[in-house]
Amino acid sequence: KYFTSDEIREKFLYFFEKKGHTRLPSSSLIPNDPQLLFTVAGMVPFKPIFWGKVEPTYTRITTCQKCLRTNDIENVGRTPRHHTFFEMLGNFSFGDYFKKEAIKWAWEFLTEELELPAEKLWASVYETDDEAFNIWKDDIKIPENKILRFGKEENWWGPAGPTGPCGPCSEIYFDTGYTENCPDQENCTPACDCGRFVEIWNIVFTEYYSDENGNLSPLPRKNIDTGAGFERICAVTQGKYDNFDSDLFKETIEEIQQIFGVKFRENKGKDVSIKVIADHSRAIAFLISEGIIPSNEGRGYVLRRLIRRAVRHGALLGAKGPFLNSILETVIKKMGKIYPELIEKEGLIKDISSMEEEKFFETMEKGMERLNNIIQNLNNQATLSGKIAFELYDTYGFPLDLTKEILSEKGIEVDEKEFTELMNKQREMARAASGKVEYDTTKQIYKEIDKFLTLTEFIGYDKLSSTEEVQ
Ligand code: ATP
Ligand code: MG
Ligand code: MG
Ligand code: MG
Repeated sequence: KYFTSDEIREKFLYFFEKKGHTRLPSSSLIPNDPQLLFTVAGMVPFKPIFWGKVEPTYTRITTCQKCLRTNDIENVGRTPRHHTFFEMLGNFSFGDYFKKEAIKWAWEFLTEELELPAEKLWASVYETDDEAFNIWKDDIKIPENKILRFGKEENWWGPAGPTGPCGPCSEIYFDTGYTENCPDQENCTPACDCGRFVEIWNIVFTEYYSDENGNLSPLPRKNIDTGAGFERICAVTQGKYDNFDSDLFKETIEEIQQIFGVKFRENKGKDVSIKVIADHSRAIAFLISEGIIPSNEGRGYVLRRLIRRAVRHGALLGAKGPFLNSILETVIKKMGKIYPELIEKEGLIKDISSMEEEKFFETMEKGMERLNNIIQNLNNQATLSGKIAFELYDTYGFPLDLTKEILSEKGIEVDEKEFTELMNKQREMARAASGKVEYDTTKQIYKEIDKFLTLTEFIGYDKLSSTEEVQ
């Protein structure tokens, strides 16, 4: 059965209200949490309660939380189901119900409320979690071969930050039946990364505290933290393989097609650009609505990167100047009913984004001049060295695909091997720098402040790397 995204969001919250949960509005994308740059999951606003530092007012809560993950920036457009900004549906129990109810209700919601076919759902549990395994097998009665045991990498969640609450988790996967990318169709399960199976739901059994060295100790309460990916659930409920084909992105993608005179689903490369713009414009609108402005560090730098990436992909589709405003308008219109801050800040969102766009178009223009000079001096050589392509990337912010596209019009190729070598070298240097120097100095600063203010333990920023590639 077809449900719109607005219906699905409401159905979820109402379903858990009926199960005794109090519905709370989404918290800010900027958490009141010194350990994190952004709200990366629905549990973030409740971290002190899970941790046992704060007593809960309600023991059962349900929310739809605005989230932003920078670790997925490069996945956007390259996987069918990763976003920077996304919404996470959640039901939380603070020392109230535990594994059995959490699993039962997840199943009930998916199969009865959303009417997803039970045979398309699979589950995973943490490798040693027999309790969760048996609930899936004996209470839910799904075939044993559809309950997988995964290790830490997949089925252990948290802490969100260097220390904090965490625990084993149990995930629900949806079988899209899409086997085109699978190397081993006979034996394909959610363990296969071909994309056929979508992780739509994750129930964390939050019962441990992890210290900075990963040592675990029991929390005062046993808790439930459910994170269900809203865009993914919308997509599978609407019979779509790709989140960008759900109704959530429909108007935005229509607007992008209009502006650039392109058609979605006609060309794989262009589709990536369309998806990146559709994704980033949501993140841009929400970040500015929360008072973030582009800058060279922290949250402002993430916003700057998102705008530049969107501009670059716009340029790949033919943009010669700022183009985001009307796309942001469609985002605001689509999401403003649920998130009125977008409507309130519409003017600010558009002004700030177009200022940043303009600046970047100017930089790109300088890069174009440089590139044209280079082309003239190539004297009919058919290949551009990777070194120059890398300079264009590094100094002028030209992604390789942009350089390639411009050159291909003149029948010139790029030495991609050399480019990749230089890129990898830079990445390694950046990684070494951020891993050792930057992180430690940040940490040290916070330790000093900490001593000074006699606050809690130290902290740091979650996954902030100013050198992360923008492409
Ligand atoms: P994945 O393995 O697909 O990257 P995850 O295990 O990192 O997802 P969780 O931390 O378990 O994700 O988050 C809970 C749920 O939020 C996931 O089951 C998924 O449905 C959704 N989700 C996670 N990351 C994203 C994202 N970048 N964009 C959209 N939805 C996401
Ligand atoms: Mg992930
Ligand atoms: Mg996962
Ligand atoms: Mg997960």
